[in-house]
Amino acid sequence: MTRRYPTSETVDIVVIGTGAGGSPVLARLAQAGLSVVALEAGRWWSPATEYAQDEVAQAPLYWLDERLSSGSDPTAFGKNNSGCGVGGSTLHYGAFVPRPDPRDLSLRTEFGLGQDWPISYNELIPYFNEVEQFLGVSGSSSYPWDPDRRYPLPPVALNAPAQLMERGCDALGIRTAPAPLATLSQTYAHPAMRSDPHVYSAASVTRDATTAQRRVWT
Ligand SMILES: Cc1cc2nc3c(=O)[nH]c(=O)nc-3n(C[C@H](O)[C@H](O)[C@H](O)COP(=O)(O)OP(=O)(O)OC[C@H]3O[C@@H](n4cnc5c(N)ncnc54)[C@H](O)[C@@H]3O)c2cc1C
Repeated sequence: MTRRYPTSETVDIVVIGTGAGGSPVLARLAQAGLSVVALEAGRWWSPATEYAQDEVAQAPLYWLDERLSSGSDPTAFGKNNSGCGVGGSTLHYGAFVPRPDPRDLSLRTEFGLGQDWPISYNELIPYFNEVEQFLGVSGSSSYPWDPDRRYPLPPVALNAPAQLMERGCDALGIRTAPAPLATLSQTYAHPAMRSDPHVYSAASVTRDATTAQRRVWT
């Protein structure tokens, strides 16, 4: 049942947008005991009936308006297919959950470009682990390029294009590993939720839209 609140009610925090950025902030603030409200331009889409199986059928989830930067002389970024609705772009994202390369945080030092981050990769590792556990990420353990890394679930079976790619890389002597995905290879129990495994589509890059693909609304 939808609960309605009077607009005169005072809250501690208003979060604008319920995508990958806004939703975790919203959840954490609420867990901390603050009263929070989210404003979302899109609507609630039903996972059971409105998440589509392919990119064409996903079109209603897209937000295709022109994007402008802020500032006195805004830059026009054009359209992109980010999501519009509760969950934001995670409504139809690829669910690929890579960690950054440690060098991404020190671009100035490594490449003389941009700025270095004031925090190190190692400081972020506990947070990567926490998010991966929360989402139930399926990936290689150990991960070939980072043997200490452990994903909570084994990798999702490779689809046909990935198998072809793997064969090609093997022939060329290029090392590969299944990409870490926020889609469940096994039933995953989590204190906040339980989800059953996901059937990986052999034909679709973005995979079937089932509740086992972890979107931020979970
Ligand atoms: C097709 C696609 C595939 C992707 N695949 C991956 C992937 O595999 N792995 C990965 O890590 N990333 C992926 N991404 C990128 C990832 O989804 C985004 O980086 C991430 O969702 C951005 O989070 P966000 O909170 O900034 O924005 P979003 O998740 O886009 O959320 C923004 C939300 O704000 C709402 N909103 C906007 N303006 C207003 C307003 N004025 N008032 C109220 N609400 C508003 C929107 O409706 C939307 O719900 C993909 C993106 C797309 C589009």
